[in-house]
Amino acid sequence: MKVRTRFAPSPTGMLHIGGARTALFSWLYARHHGGEFVLRIEDTDRERSTEEATQVILDGLSWLGLDWDEPPVFQHARQAEHILAVEQLLEEGHAYRCYCTREELDAMRDEQRARGEKPKYDGRCRHRSDRPADMPYVVRFRSPDIGQTVVRDKVLGDVVFDNAELDDLILLRSDGTPTYNLAVVADDAAMGITHVVRGSDHLNNTPRQIQLYEALGLPVPSFAHIPLIHGPDGAKMSKRHGAVAVTEYRDKGYLADALVNYLARLGWSHGDEEVFSREQLIELFDLAQVGKTAARFDQQKLDWLNAVYLRQAAPASLQEDVRRFLGVPTDGGPELSQVIAVLQERSKSLVELADGARFFYQAPTHYDEKAVRKHFRDTTWPLLASFIERLEAMGASFSGEAAHAAIREICEAAGVGMGKLAQPVRILLSGGPVSPPIDQTLALLGREEALQRIRRGIERLHTA
Ligand code: GLU
Repeated sequence: MKVRTRFAPSPTGMLHIGGARTALFSWLYARHHGGEFVLRIEDTDRERSTEEATQVILDGLSWLGLDWDEPPVFQHARQAEHILAVEQLLEEGHAYRCYCTREELDAMRDEQRARGEKPKYDGRCRHRSDRPADMPYVVRFRSPDIGQTVVRDKVLGDVVFDNAELDDLILLRSDGTPTYNLAVVADDAAMGITHVVRGSDHLNNTPRQIQLYEALGLPVPSFAHIPLIHGPDGAKMSKRHGAVAVTEYRDKGYLADALVNYLARLGWSHGDEEVFSREQLIELFDLAQVGKTAARFDQQKLDWLNAVYLRQAAPASLQEDVRRFLGVPTDGGPELSQVIAVLQERSKSLVELADGARFFYQAPTHYDEKAVRKHFRDTTWPLLASFIERLEAMGASFSGEAAHAAIREICEAAGVGMGKLAQPVRILLSGGPVSPPIDQTLALLGREEALQRIRRGIERLHTA
C-alpha cells in the first residue's frame, strides 16, 4: 500500500506555526515512506475563506519546501459528492432527517441540564416517518448507542470513546450544506488518504469520522494526532508568545531550512540531536518518535538553529535571500557572495546579514554620532592623512593585508594602538563602529572606494 497523506488547511487566515508543523509531519511521513503528499483546501466556510488566504498558505508551504504531488483539491467544489454520501447514508438507514426547531432543542437541553445530565441530542427524530414538506430539516447521523469506538492513534496510542457519549451528529445543515466531519470523511476517502496526520485538537472528531467511514463502507485510514504547540508559559501558542505566522519568520530573516529543522524537533526527536538536514529528516522521521505531550516553543533555540544554518550555508545559496532584504542594488559593488562569506559567521538572521552588508553597496550618508564622539580626536586627522597617503602610494599592490599593515605601521610610528586609526577608518567606510575585520572590509570595498569614502568623511567631519 502506498502511503498518501494530506494537509487540509482552512483558508481563513495565515499559515501559522502549528499548521506548518502539522503539514511538515504529514509531508515527512509521506516522503519517508516514498508516498504522496497532497493538499485539500477546506474552503466550505464561504464567508471566511478567501483566495488570498489560500495563496498565503500555498506560498508558506512552498517557502518551507513542502512540495505537494497533485494540484490542491478545493473542498467546496466537492459539495455534490458530499451530498451523495449523505443520501447514501439516508437510504441505508445510517442517517435521518431531523425537524427539531431551535426552541425544541433548547427546551430539550434545559430539561437535560435540570436532570443533571450532559446536554446532547436525544435522537427524538430517529423514528419519525412523516416528511413535512414545508419544514426545514437537518440530516443527522444515526450513531451507535452502545459499545465503544477506538482510535488506534499512531502517536497517542489507543484512545477509547464510549459511543453513548457521542450524539447524533449533523451531516447536512438546514441550508443543505455539508458539515466538516462528513466532508472530511468523504474527501479523505475519495483522495485515497491512507494516513490522516493532524493536530490533536481534532481528536474528538475522529471517533465520529471512524463511524462515518464504517457506515459508508469505506476503509478507515490510520490516524496520527500531533500534540499542540505551547508557548514557554505552557499556554496554547498565540500572538503574545511572538510571531505565529510563517510569513513573519520569513520576513524576520529566518531561513526556511532552519525553521523546518526547528519545527521538526518541536514534538519529534531522534536521540539528543538538534541539527538535521532535510534529507536526514526524511530518512529518520517516523510518527513513533513524536511525543504525546504538547511541545514548547523556544525562541532561543530557533535563533540558535538559524545562526547554525546561516553559518553553514554556501554563500552563493544565500544571495537571493540577502538581496530580498538588502534594498539597494549590488552592481558596481563587491561580489555579494564574498560579502556574505565574511558576514555569515557573525549574523543571526538574514536581516542582520543584509544590514551588515548594505554599506558595501551604499556609502554612508551619516556617521554614528556616538561612535564619532568616541573615536575621533584631534590626533585622528594626521593618522588618517598618513593612511590616505599610503593607500594612494599602493596602487596595484593594494590588498587587505597591505592596508592592514599600513594601519599597523602608522600607529606604531605614532606610538598609539591600532584601534586609534582602525576604528575611525571603519566608521568612515561603514558609517558605524561595527563591520567585518578591517582588512576584509578594505579588501572588499577596494582601494578607490575606500579612498573616496575616507576623503569624503574627513571633509564632513573635520570641519564640523
Ligand atoms: N481544516 C481543518 C483545520 O484547518 C483540518 C481538518 C483535518 O485535518 O481533518 O483545522
